[in-house]
Amino acid sequence: MLYYTEVDLSSYEIPGETTLNIYISGCQNRCIDCHYPELQSNEYGEPLNLNFKRIIELYSNYATCICFMGEGKGTIVERDEMQEYIELIHLASMKAALYCGRDTTIESWMEEFDYVKIGRFYPDKGPLTAPTTNQKMYMKERNKWIDITYSFYC
Ligand code: SF4
Repeated sequence: MLYYTEVDLSSYEIPGETTLNIYISGCQNRCIDCHYPELQSNEYGEPLNLNFKRIIELYSNYATCICFMGEGKGTIVERDEMQEYIELIHLASMKAALYCGRDTTIESWMEEFDYVKIGRFYPDKGPLTAPTTNQKMYMKERNKWIDITYSFYC
């Protein structure tokens, strides 16, 4: 089951979108200089399924995109839960985004998202805004994933 700690509205995480970020706990990555260590705790916060529909109702007039900040423990059950949320997001005519903190490529279970960020944070490579970053942001366009990482560079 997915747990979340908080939500916030931002125009930073996804280019061209006003995003409602949902911070998912249970992160299994152990990045050096983690920006949000509480997210490494399992089952920290509230179960997301208690509030997800209400969150969509509350924010659908303000946000164009819902962004999951983290993917929890990455179990099959949690990935299935996220698929259900993606369906609800699309039904509300919003985009769905994932910030994945693992070094990976786009995985099959991520295909229904509209945006996916992949890659761990390495202090020597810098954040997503640094041209030296290892992280990548992809946008789905006509069923193809386009690398739009450059749009973050300062
Ligand atoms: S992915 Fe994010 S929350 Fe998880 S350890 Fe890395 S910086 Fe922390």
